[in-house]
Amino acid sequence: MQEHVLPNISSDMAEKVEEHLESKGVNLILGDGVQKFQGQDEIESVITQSGEKIKADLVLLSLGIRPEVELAKKAGIELGETGAIKVNEKMETSLEDIYSAGDCAESVDILTNKAVWIPLGSTANKQGRIAGENAAGGDYSHRGIMKTGISKIFGYTVATTGLSKKEAEENGFNPIEISFKAANHAGYYPDVSKLYIKGIFDKEDGKILGAEVIGEAGADKRIDVLSTAIYSGLKAKDLFQIDLAYAPPYSSPKDPVAILGILAEKKLK
Ligand SMILES: Cc1cc2nc3c(=O)[nH]c(=O)nc-3n(C[C@H](O)[C@H](O)[C@H](O)COP(=O)(O)OP(=O)(O)OC[C@H]3O[C@@H](n4cnc5c(N)ncnc54)[C@H](O)[C@@H]3O)c2cc1C
Repeated sequence: MQEHVLPNISSDMAEKVEEHLESKGVNLILGDGVQKFQGQDEIESVITQSGEKIKADLVLLSLGIRPEVELAKKAGIELGETGAIKVNEKMETSLEDIYSAGDCAESVDILTNKAVWIPLGSTANKQGRIAGENAAGGDYSHRGIMKTGISKIFGYTVATTGLSKKEAEENGFNPIEISFKAANHAGYYPDVSKLYIKGIFDKEDGKILGAEVIGEAGADKRIDVLSTAIYSGLKAKDLFQIDLAYAPPYSSPKDPVAILGILAEKKLK
């Protein structure tokens, strides 16, 4: 299988990001690992597993993260299948009066109802608020997450929410996928740019299961609308009906979110 940047997005969308990175002069080496670093007092080069030698002045390692759960383990607190601390919707751990929140704790995926570990500040903040409120005698619950995330890669925004087609299939859905390209705002208005949009829908009832949006402008608001739509259990036909704001600098009379709904409805028939 071909390796791509950003394994959390689908490969055709990742290819758009790769093209963008290459257009900015980034030399991508995918599917190869680091074998060793070379240099006397400071780094001079990196040798890859395939034997390639790359000259380097600075090496930045971004190798992923793991939940820090040593304290919880020592306290006898139950860990979940993800390796993070198992919590209920009140952020209670398996030990009475002990709460857990943030990067060390699990969440529930709203769409699959399965425990997931997606360490993000947006989730940590909610969980912390809920744990704090409950520890002080309140009664708050965390409904769960949809793994909504967003990053900026040079001028590109890459945003995702919900399930990919593969995840939807693995979780017993019968998904269809819609991909298309649209303008971020009215074509005649200055600085128009492209948005690449993908939506995943359940073939059975038209429910929106996931979305990916990439582009120089306007990806953030589209992903937030789609994330809200998923949270609310909306279907393909609702995307056309939502009363979205329009003026030429911001959108088109038929917003890309509405186009996604129209295309999905056609495919679902
Ligand atoms: C470079 C980077 C960029 C990120 N960008 C985003 C983003 O754009 N959007 C997003 O949603 N998330 C982002 N995140 C993730 C986000 O920062 C984390 O999910 C969030 O900070 C987790 O909050 P937390 O409270 O669980 O942990 P932390 O924020 O790590 O806080 C833990 C605190 O505990 C303290 N601590 C540790 N051990 C002890 C100890 N033994 N005793 C006392 N104190 C201790 C630490 O010093 C720290 O202050 C990013 C993370 C990184 C590293």
